[in-house]
Amino acid sequence: MKFCALASGSRGNAVWVEEGDLAILLDCGLTYKEFKNRAHLAGLDPGRLGCVLVSHEHTDHISGLGPLCRALKIPALANRATWESMAERVGRVTWEAFSTGDTLSFGPLKVRTMPISHDTPDPVAFLIQSHSGDLGLATDMGAPTGLVRQKFQGLAALILEFNHDYHRLMEGPYPWPLKQRVRSRVGHLDNETAAGLAAELYHSDLRHLVLAHLSETNNTPELALQAVREALAGSIEPVVAGQWSPTRVFEF
Ligand SMILES: [Zn+2]
Ligand SMILES: [Zn+2]
Repeated sequence: MKFCALASGSRGNAVWVEEGDLAILLDCGLTYKEFKNRAHLAGLDPGRLGCVLVSHEHTDHISGLGPLCRALKIPALANRATWESMAERVGRVTWEAFSTGDTLSFGPLKVRTMPISHDTPDPVAFLIQSHSGDLGLATDMGAPTGLVRQKFQGLAALILEFNHDYHRLMEGPYPWPLKQRVRSRVGHLDNETAAGLAAELYHSDLRHLVLAHLSETNNTPELALQAVREALAGSIEPVVAGQWSPTRVFEF
């Protein structure tokens, strides 16, 4: 399996996953033009893309979904609650429904969907499975749930939200209601909680750990890296996914 975070953060998210001739995209919070730029930069062929799976309907995950699906003539997959909350903004695309908890098959890839704790009607995390190992993707969650803890055991690669540094958030410029939202169980993970979860999920065959959805206001790559290095004691070299350029293409 190959994967690449084309963008990660509150201004847009998209993760490319590829196995053999088939690729899928997890969320599309990039304009179609920017998506093409970044796919090109990463050496990925948009012609391979078979569909887009949507985790939840916040703008940073769907802003480019409609144009991309129309341009490439591919379907968008989302659960009903997510679809109903975004259909108007997405416009005319082929919607294929799944129910949270379903396992979906795309050629050699299987995608397990599972609920997470976030402030939309039915947000999901993804576990992507192939013969070479599993990739877990969980961002936009206020608290690690038992299900994520359980299903994300034994991964080959993990993309995990490291949204904010607690002190930066609390002392930073966000208005109080927004600080409360971010800190709530349906908000976003802070570095310390995420690092604790990464340490729980770590095992010696975990090949890639990608820190994702960092806040530009309330976090820095250095703070996120410091938190995870302390928790993991140098057992793996984590990579930060950025807002403005794609990560390298990871492979396992
Ligand atoms: Zn988000
Ligand atoms: Zn969100």
